[in-house]
Amino acid sequence: MLSVQDALARVLEHAQPRAPSSCPVPEALGLLLAEDITSDIDSPPHDKSLVDGYAVIAADLSDGTAELEILEEITAGNVPTREIRRGSCARIMTGAPIPRGAEAVVMIERSEHVSGPGLGRARLNGVRPTLGSNIMRRAASMARGQTILRSGAVVRSIEIGLLSEVGRVEVRAIARPRVAVLATGNELVRAVETPTAGQIRNSNGPLLAAAARMAGSESIDLGIARDDRGSLRELISQGLARDILVISGGVSAGVLDLVPSVLAELAVEQIFHKINLKPGKPLWFGVWEAGRRPEAGAGSLERSATLTGEGSRSTTQSIPPTSSLQPPASSLVFGLPGNPVSSFVCFELFVRPAIARLAGRQDYRPETVTARLATEFAHRSDRETYHPARLLTTDEGYVVEPLLSQGSGDLRTLADANALAVFEPGQRRYAAGESLPVVRLPRF
Ligand code: AMP
Ligand code: MG
Repeated sequence: MLSVQDALARVLEHAQPRAPSSCPVPEALGLLLAEDITSDIDSPPHDKSLVDGYAVIAADLSDGTAELEILEEITAGNVPTREIRRGSCARIMTGAPIPRGAEAVVMIERSEHVSGPGLGRARLNGVRPTLGSNIMRRAASMARGQTILRSGAVVRSIEIGLLSEVGRVEVRAIARPRVAVLATGNELVRAVETPTAGQIRNSNGPLLAAAARMAGSESIDLGIARDDRGSLRELISQGLARDILVISGGVSAGVLDLVPSVLAELAVEQIFHKINLKPGKPLWFGVWEAGRRPEAGAGSLERSATLTGEGSRSTTQSIPPTSSLQPPASSLVFGLPGNPVSSFVCFELFVRPAIARLAGRQDYRPETVTARLATEFAHRSDRETYHPARLLTTDEGYVVEPLLSQGSGDLRTLADANALAVFEPGQRRYAAGESLPVVRLPRF
């Protein structure tokens, strides 16, 4: 069976970065820049004061003391009108332009105001400013025409600020990957419903849609498909209009696990099915190339929307008509096992890296640290295991506590986890204090 590492390599082989497109700057948060950015201004645009104080001539304070006539008051947003000459100064506020003739600014805290005609006088004591003290020179931060950000940089809040400073309202960036999430199962009802005998609420759909959004994609929840070919075909066809389709359930060996065969009918090419992972062995992965969609079975949006209305899609979400989307050249399709912990682990190990790759993040790797086991742990599985755990930072480094989980259906215990402890395939008792790799779950 395929190892986790080989399976991930197969996924990433098929994950190509999306094409750059133009995007409003506030929406570029988290995206990768796809152009170099040059400044259209000098910053600061003038020599400016870094403090509230008095703009002075240094020679007036050669002995550290002076009483200077205040010629005017310059606040940020104003321009000075008077030249500073020996014996005079200007009261100046932080950010305001330095008047002609001034060589330094003395902080207001080092002064005393003396009333008199006009604006009065400033008495300065015990200060010997050097040329340029408390002044930020024009273009000290960046000069007009200078390249200030390179293509490939991640747009964080800092870059949003910098782009705004140089007057950009749009930038070219790698577009956010578009992800559709589809839950499958006859037993599933929506969160707003009360399950009757044999039913459970759909937790995977909302979980995966949220995880996909947190991973930097634009995700929609297509609701619930029933375990019948018509319903699956209908909703899977809709999901193929996205860069990534994440399906939960229906990929194991049960009589109603129809997802792989419906994907085959829809000409989605299987890359692998089943890997050496616990939880998550039934993972299915494939690729759908545009143009391969068979005519028969491709559902119309109206009909599908009615179907999802009966499913779990919340009323606040609207599925954009397929026609308004630039259809992808190909879609990656993940069939995740239905048990919530399996679904989540497979998302973190395979879907999240695929989203990162489509978003242009070539270097994305799950954050893995080495931690010491807090208690001994008996591991019994021939599969590589990702066990819900709590990772603690102590003075002696990382310590990991595997949680007492009831297995892959135990979403409640997963809520206590902030990490996944990784155990190698094979039966083995790990001693307390033994080191092992731990995957950190993404934090908000
Ligand atoms: P499956 O992979 O479809 O055989 O499902 C395996 C287990 O996961 C079953 O107990 C399902 O009821 C459960 N399950 C499947 N889909 C979901 C879902 N969307 N939300 C919560 N549990 C699910
Ligand atoms: Mg099922």
